[in-house]
Amino acid sequence: MTVPAETVTATGTLFDGRSARPNPVTLRLGERLEITGAGLREDWNPFDIRAGETEPPTMRIGLAGNPVRVEFTDRALAEALVARCPDLRLDDEARGGVLRLVLWSIAAGVSVLLVAIYGVPVAAGILAPLVPQPVESRFGLAVDGQVVSLLGDPPLCAEPAAKAVLDRLVARMTKGAGLPGDPVVSVRRHKVANALTLPGARVIVLSDILAKAETPDEFGGILAHEFGHVAARDPTRAVITAGGVSFLLSLVLGDLTGSTVIVGVGQAAISAGYSRDAERAADAYGVAMLIRAGGDGAALASILERIDAEADAEGSLTGFLHSHPYTKERAAKIRSLAGGTRPDKPLLSKEDWQTLRGICPAEPRTPAKPATTPL
Ligand SMILES: [Zn+2]
Repeated sequence: MTVPAETVTATGTLFDGRSARPNPVTLRLGERLEITGAGLREDWNPFDIRAGETEPPTMRIGLAGNPVRVEFTDRALAEALVARCPDLRLDDEARGGVLRLVLWSIAAGVSVLLVAIYGVPVAAGILAPLVPQPVESRFGLAVDGQVVSLLGDPPLCAEPAAKAVLDRLVARMTKGAGLPGDPVVSVRRHKVANALTLPGARVIVLSDILAKAETPDEFGGILAHEFGHVAARDPTRAVITAGGVSFLLSLVLGDLTGSTVIVGVGQAAISAGYSRDAERAADAYGVAMLIRAGGDGAALASILERIDAEADAEGSLTGFLHSHPYTKERAAKIRSLAGGTRPDKPLLSKEDWQTLRGICPAEPRTPAKPATTPL
């Protein structure tokens, strides 16, 4: 027969495992451990309680397989827990650590082998299509945040009527295209005529490219070209190449957002271009998509040339044309793929096109000619 355990009471802080918010709680250890606070009540079996690695006098406890953690500094409670919780020091994290380590070495072995045999770009080519779509979406979301911050947090342009036109256009163009995942197209106000495709079928359009497009078909051409990168999974391939072995490892381990790899990857998504072959393939895909959607396939060539000419005039190389020196060659190829026939009406009605161009509502419109004051 055992003597009923004396109740030990102390105060502490509960973390729910979902937010960083500290919740003040009272801990009462008797037969079981009761934890109570504002709107909080936990009732733990001492046999299930585990302690984490902490500097005394702080003690952090939780339940195996439960994200809730409680910290306290009360010595009497710490001693009582040590006495009453037989598995307190059974370190689940350490066991998880061993499993992680095993996975790491397997993943490292496999990816190092692939890289050694094929080189990173080829290994990336083999691996990119194997990345499961949920992983890619999650990764795309993280890269999106990274890229946006690297661009200096350009504001999102989402004037509702314009966004509706954009979403309809994207849906019409990509319907039945069999893209890996539903495209997420966002427009951000930025003074560079550029569009970026990220993993997870995410496309960021910088507003200047919309301003430079003279027709809806030209804008559609840019989108279709980017969807060509989505279809070929070029962004995923590029980030695997940029992140190298460490990225492959985090991919295998499913630990992407917390890794430092992502910083380099976001940078790579902006600055690294795709190969010429990848650009040509995206152009060809774009032309076919544009024509299928009822657009003018050659419009992509027109906007590429215009951006290229303006970049020359400004003496700067705009990002969309990583492939700057061979724009002429690309444009010629696009025109030959598009053939001689032109659709009799534009991709969007005049009204829809006007609406779409207003997607960044507060953007000050630059007049075509400097305004002069009549004398
Ligand atoms: Zn491209």
